[in-house]
Amino acid sequence: MRAAVLHEIGQDKLEVVDDAEAVGFGPGKVRIRVRATGLCHSDVSAMSGVLPQPAPFIPGHEGAGEILDVGDGVTGLTQGQRVLLCWLPACGSCPACKRGQTQLCLAGFMNAGTPNFKRPGGDVFGFAGTGTFTEEVVVDAGCAVPIPDDVPFDIAALIGCGVTTGLGAAINTAKVEAGSSVAVIGCGGVGISAIQGARLQGAAQIVAVDPVESRREAALRFGATEAVAPDALADAKQRITAGEGFDYVFEVVGKSATARTAYENTRRGGTLCVVGAGAMDDNLQLNMFELFFDEKRILPSMYGGGDVLRSYERAIALWRAGRIDLESLITHRVPLAGINEALEQMRTGAALRTCVEI
Ligand SMILES: [Zn+2]
Ligand SMILES: [Zn+2]
Repeated sequence: MRAAVLHEIGQDKLEVVDDAEAVGFGPGKVRIRVRATGLCHSDVSAMSGVLPQPAPFIPGHEGAGEILDVGDGVTGLTQGQRVLLCWLPACGSCPACKRGQTQLCLAGFMNAGTPNFKRPGGDVFGFAGTGTFTEEVVVDAGCAVPIPDDVPFDIAALIGCGVTTGLGAAINTAKVEAGSSVAVIGCGGVGISAIQGARLQGAAQIVAVDPVESRREAALRFGATEAVAPDALADAKQRITAGEGFDYVFEVVGKSATARTAYENTRRGGTLCVVGAGAMDDNLQLNMFELFFDEKRILPSMYGGGDVLRSYERAIALWRAGRIDLESLITHRVPLAGINEALEQMRTGAALRTCVEI
């Protein structure tokens, strides 16, 4: 079958091959025909080595499709069922799951070290235990989450990562209060979802911060009250908060430099919500005096910072009610053969989300 493969970490292009095979089907597993997958920034970060990932691998973790086969012992899933792919399945029995923090369940990561594809040359891994830039994928049954019939595959795919991450950061983690001031640094698909979340929560001012003009324009359409380039953030802080800083600042880039900027633009006692996925050797520096004296709350948010299935259901309900716009998040569409074009659209910031139709 066709798949897009990264041969070595550090390469910036994928090779679309037609000799890949999804392996590992058996008890507790399902085989899925992928129909749509979004290109998420984490895919690019895994390719460049910012996020740990063995190679060769098939990127893609934000996908949706139909179940082709159901392994023995799997309950609640049937052949032909439409599902979205959850790259962080909950085991249901670990301490994190019992507390309702399924976003912190580590069971899914145990699969990430096992290759779930092969080619004539050898084993191929799937990113984050999934790997959706392919026609078929074999995953744990817990990774297949049924979706209602009215949710198209492309919308479901986005809910599988970017939308859940951004919305959840604003709603579950930061718990943005009505009437508050918010800045969102980094306005790709996740940042825009954080903006929509902050708008839903009733934020009075939402400042979108991004160096790319088309993203700033998009942010305004999704609910930002103003949009500025990074070098104009200090001015916005002065005008909007009288220099005090924002009640909430979302860091949606995943770099210590932007996290530091976010910290400095958060008011004393305010909340810095870290959403971006960064590197293990990129250290954020804070001095012990400011940490104590300014009492800023630093709240990291992983995959929406709450129960993952609940976050999906909420995103679907909000989308169905017309309270969030997910269609307009998909600014570009390509077939699998156009995957390198999609990577370029991501790197230049031209796309909020590119949907790969498979
Ligand atoms: Zn993602
Ligand atoms: Zn668990």
